[in-house]
Amino acid sequence: MGPAPLILVADDDEDIRLLVTMRLERAGYRVVAARNGDEAMQLAAEHDPDLLVLDVSMPVLNGHDLCLALTADNPSPPPVIFLSGRTMPNDRVLGLEAGAVDYMTKPFDAKELITRVAVALRTGRRMATLAHDASVDRMTGLLNRAQLDDRLSQAVGRATAFGTGLGCVLLDLDHFKSINDHFGHLTGDDVLREIAARLRRNLRSDDAVFRYGGEEFFVLVEGGDGPSTMFIAEKLLAAIAAEPVAGHEVTASAGVAVWAPELTRPAELLQAADAALYEAKRSGRAQVALATQARAASATTG
Ligand code: GH3
Ligand code: MG
Ligand code: MG
Repeated sequence: MGPAPLILVADDDEDIRLLVTMRLERAGYRVVAARNGDEAMQLAAEHDPDLLVLDVSMPVLNGHDLCLALTADNPSPPPVIFLSGRTMPNDRVLGLEAGAVDYMTKPFDAKELITRVAVALRTGRRMATLAHDASVDRMTGLLNRAQLDDRLSQAVGRATAFGTGLGCVLLDLDHFKSINDHFGHLTGDDVLREIAARLRRNLRSDDAVFRYGGEEFFVLVEGGDGPSTMFIAEKLLAAIAAEPVAGHEVTASAGVAVWAPELTRPAELLQAADAALYEAKRSGRAQVALATQARAASATTG
């Protein structure tokens, strides 16, 4: 069993803050407490709590705005329970609309709070599991295709906004069909899993790796330019070819493309990498090709 769930409590009333903290700690939870919304925001970023119990009326940043800020841009935010002195039905509505999973009023019953906390934590765990299952390829544990679409758009947005580089590698195993044909699909699956692990091991933790399709993998290199992304692609191919994968000699080919201001849609980066991959295959496999403007252009128009 891991550590007890961590709960962030925010209330500007010291008595309530101490009381809630004590009740939660007695129930076996770990607690961090904040005196206002702003402090809660900082503590949330620092501690990544499993649940938040928030007052609504707080100085600096109120509970509603805090809740909205925590849930924005977070595909699986922690559940929020409001614990507020505001008791009108419309207050509950506003709290739930701000993204909370539950709303309790003061004075509160300790047993009810502990029960609602347990329920919200259970819901939070289920949501986190669903979010994980929806974003990860089950066989390899890599990010899946749906995630690629989202993250590619976000990365292009950052590259455009900040003028930073963005490279990508589209990698495809060579003659993979023959592994399946000669040794069976289970062996093929073992090869795919080990390839995924090798890619992970040979990349930095902030390079996102995806299973793009059957035996195709995709790497997003934020900050990468042509030479640095080519270097990474060469390294990945070498890591695959260096020693047998699940007992079999395997090689891969890769297409590299970098984001350029002339491109307009994120999908064009993918198309450029795909065109380069085709070139790598055509030139004899087990090699990397860099997308040229001409190839990228023909891929986008063709
Ligand atoms: P090339 O060098 O041109 O890429 O040849 P290839 O044989 O690798 O490419 P092709 O696209 O002809 O075949 C890909 C094969 O990958 C066919 C498909 O059965 C296999 N494949 C796709 N997904 C999986 C999977 O999840 N498990 C296994 N075992 N095989 C898979
Ligand atoms: Mg393929
Ligand atoms: Mg292939």
